[in-house]
Amino acid sequence: MKDNKADNWILKQDSFVPKEALAWEGLFTQGSGYLQARGSFEESFYDSPQNLEYERDATNVSVEKFPEQNSRCGTYIPGIYGKNPVFNREIINLPNSLRIEFYVKNEKLDLVESDIVDFSRFLNLKTGLLSRSMLWHSKAGANITLKYRRFVDTGSKHLILQQISITSDKDTEIEVLSKIDADVRTNGRNHFVKTGFKKENNTVFCNIETDCQNKVDIVFEMSGDNWNNRKDGELSRTITLETNKEVVLEKRSVFTTDRDRDVKSCLEILEDNRSNSFDDLFTRHADIWAKRWEKCDVEIEGDDESQLATRVSLYHLLRSHVDDDRVAICAKGFAGEAYWGLFFWDTEMFMMPFFLYTDPAKAKTLTDFRIKTLPNAKKNAESYNCSGARFPWQSDHEGNECCAKSLWQYRDHEIHVTADVVYGFLHYSKATGNIDYLTKDAAETIIETCRFWMDRIDYIDGKPALLGVMGPDEYNPFFNNNAFTNRLVKSALSIGCEIGPENGVSKDEIRKWKFAADELPILKRKDGLILQHESFENLAEPDFDKYWKDKTKPYGGVVQQDRNYISKSSKQPDVLQMMFLFANEFSKEEIKQAWDYYHPYCTHDSSLSPGIHGLIASRLGLNDIAWDYWKKTSMLDLDVEKGKAAQGIHIAGSAATWQYLVFGFAGVKHAVESDILSLSPNLPDKWTKLSFPVIWKGQQIKISINSSSVSIENKSDKKLEAVVWGRKIEIEAESTRECLNEN
Ligand code: BGC
Repeated sequence: MKDNKADNWILKQDSFVPKEALAWEGLFTQGSGYLQARGSFEESFYDSPQNLEYERDATNVSVEKFPEQNSRCGTYIPGIYGKNPVFNREIINLPNSLRIEFYVKNEKLDLVESDIVDFSRFLNLKTGLLSRSMLWHSKAGANITLKYRRFVDTGSKHLILQQISITSDKDTEIEVLSKIDADVRTNGRNHFVKTGFKKENNTVFCNIETDCQNKVDIVFEMSGDNWNNRKDGELSRTITLETNKEVVLEKRSVFTTDRDRDVKSCLEILEDNRSNSFDDLFTRHADIWAKRWEKCDVEIEGDDESQLATRVSLYHLLRSHVDDDRVAICAKGFAGEAYWGLFFWDTEMFMMPFFLYTDPAKAKTLTDFRIKTLPNAKKNAESYNCSGARFPWQSDHEGNECCAKSLWQYRDHEIHVTADVVYGFLHYSKATGNIDYLTKDAAETIIETCRFWMDRIDYIDGKPALLGVMGPDEYNPFFNNNAFTNRLVKSALSIGCEIGPENGVSKDEIRKWKFAADELPILKRKDGLILQHESFENLAEPDFDKYWKDKTKPYGGVVQQDRNYISKSSKQPDVLQMMFLFANEFSKEEIKQAWDYYHPYCTHDSSLSPGIHGLIASRLGLNDIAWDYWKKTSMLDLDVEKGKAAQGIHIAGSAATWQYLVFGFAGVKHAVESDILSLSPNLPDKWTKLSFPVIWKGQQIKISINSSSVSIENKSDKKLEAVVWGRKIEIEAESTRECLNEN
């Protein structure tokens, strides 16, 4: 990525390098929430078949090797999942309707094989418009300028618009082939049991039935007449280009499914939008994006690179939120299939807070999703011979467990997710001030999770213990009394005790929950260090010099699993993440002590790791380390040379970028940590200003920070209390107050 500093709303690809193409496809993913499309080119290129069949191993995805491909098209509708014999369900890669190929005298335009100059591609993060321009020196002698624009329309949500302007410096004929490619696979697998095509004039219909019996209809329509139907799903036409006379082509594709809540057909949607031009529809779409950015844009002055990286992260978060409580946000932000389009604890701990403080209604669809999937969480508990509800480690849209059985360490033991779900409810209710959410909306779910814990907990000498648990650190797979899990379970049980009586839970049950909540241990060393689990101190010291010579590779990919599992090596923060979630319970000294002990063991093999480490480092005043982790987190997916976004966006990392800015550099205490808005900023030296909007318990606020002061604009009609650098202040309704840094 070069020269992107000029405009930090624009993500620019200024050369085509086949090996980097996959990463750009991930980075340039566009989406309306409902419909998501990877940023693949309109034309296929040399050696990029989309129908490769293969089996993925059930393994740790962080160290997995994916088939070598220079392009992997992806069209997803969150909620359309197919069968997978190993992973139960996976999101389906739907037929690709973006295909438009050009031929001049039998030479196919191909980015690898053709003579292309002046290539550039831009994603405007402000509007989600993807543009490309290039000059094709065709073998026949005509030099053809092509300019592409496309967006996934947030106005109708079902529509993708593509526009191509074609100009030749000589009279020539160009053949256009526009098609829908239904010969595609998901993770090497075919999920279509029926595929049908139909053509009428300039319109092609494609209907598929999936192996989970969903029906998906796709229609595309080309502008202009005289389109011929060469093959199923294809339209072709020859256009005569006159010297220097621009021809503009337009393609509109519409997707609908039998799961849609709005029941319009593809044709009705096309018809509804027919009187609007590409530009009209783009204006409607861009207005929606403008409103979104108003709620969440973070402005950084003094560092264009960080500014752009932040906006890339926020863009993907905004794009991947579906506005539908029947799905959450998958671990790859619906920009790739690496995590099978499934939902993890990432939702509650990483993505949800961004929406919670910028657009709480969107956070609610994520917490409501868990409430909706309670029936399957109950079935899941039953399958473990437990009562109550146990949320799956990897959830599909219905809340089914989709972690492979052979990955039993995660599936059976990473049970903290069930308590994380309840922490999500707590966070939602604290940040919005909506207490009813706990006592009413989420009550049954909370109660059922408490019942699960009572069966999962063992009693040793009368004291409760959670045995054989994997905490967030997946390199410590099976240990007793993991501090993270225990602290989260204690919290869930305490909430159960508070809301249980008014929801019909008996005194006897509450008594048991209370005992477990009080007595479940958080183990400490004599000097007060919180132990990750009972055996942590007995594990081998990881010999990174011996086992991890090539640090460009993930540690988990080079060390033997048995060595990893018997060592103190960790994949991501565990105790430290718990301390962040309950930060009000720990002094700075206690957090520093844990940092000094655990940080050297961390390999950061998980992309979820640098963000949390860095925001803690910033709070501890470890500024150099905080800066280093900031770059690692915010720039992760922008590393196209290493192909970081190739298999999808690290969306929890994108969300960690926002948390880093707000809870780290701005030092805002989250709502579980503090009832009152409180902040102690610690800006990187380079930054002259950091400003962002937040919603705190329903009050709209804009916080602006520079090295010497904090200014808080209270946009609401109520007085706001805040604590800035330890000093209590009041900000009258609709007014701004500035506080000087006197430290
Ligand atoms: C991390 C998990 C995370 C998952 C999906 C794994 O590598 O260790 O914490 O939930 O990726 O993002």
